[in-house]
Amino acid sequence: MNIALFGAPGAGKGTQSAALVDRKGMKHISTGDLFRYAIKNETPLGLEAKKYIDAGNLVPDAVTIGLVREELKCVGDTGFILDGFPRTVPQAEALEGLLQENGKTLDQVLFLEVPKGQLMSRLTGRRVCKSCGAVNHIDAKPTKIEGVCDICGGESVQRIDDQEETIANRLDVYENSTAPLKSFYKEAGKLVELDGTGPTDEVFERIQEVLDRN
Ligand code: AMP
Repeated sequence: MNIALFGAPGAGKGTQSAALVDRKGMKHISTGDLFRYAIKNETPLGLEAKKYIDAGNLVPDAVTIGLVREELKCVGDTGFILDGFPRTVPQAEALEGLLQENGKTLDQVLFLEVPKGQLMSRLTGRRVCKSCGAVNHIDAKPTKIEGVCDICGGESVQRIDDQEETIANRLDVYENSTAPLKSFYKEAGKLVELDGTGPTDEVFERIQEVLDRN
């Protein structure tokens, strides 16, 4: 089963992907994580992507599509989760070609619906470990010691693009560039709309129900 998780920034795509990887062994392809890895390692891709990401804008389609092309070459039979890709209609169109090149199909696109009012607090409160990437939230899932990752003891910090000014832009970019994908995948008969609110486990159960139907 190959799926894409789709939704606004803060809808829980990363959290639910991690749960799916954990319980179902699917391959996780997160363009955001791939960009952050490249930034951390100061690769040419990272240096190029950083200026867009820090400002809350999308990395250009050609760069992003090239990245996903490489990742899809390494997908085995475990099934994959696309997390944060596609984010524009041209990316979705390009994905069709990339899947064909690799003899794969995208089975379903799960849209995690979270009201706009909840997204801001989810994002401003998010903290991410600089070393292992563990995600916490200052209210919903705080670390035992403020600023210190429970898992590896690394520094748990706010992402630059999770600052309030940048989030406002990310939400606008989402509305303008990414939300149109909803009708794109509805027309393709692949869209499944899910309630993304409530505890992580409950959202995961909703996802699991959809996957079990197939
Ligand atoms: P995420 O971790 O998915 O929230 O992504 C963080 C940032 O990486 C986004 O705000 C964009 O700047 C960039 N990014 C991630 N995925 C894409 C994509 N599919 N297309 C363009 N930019 C992306």
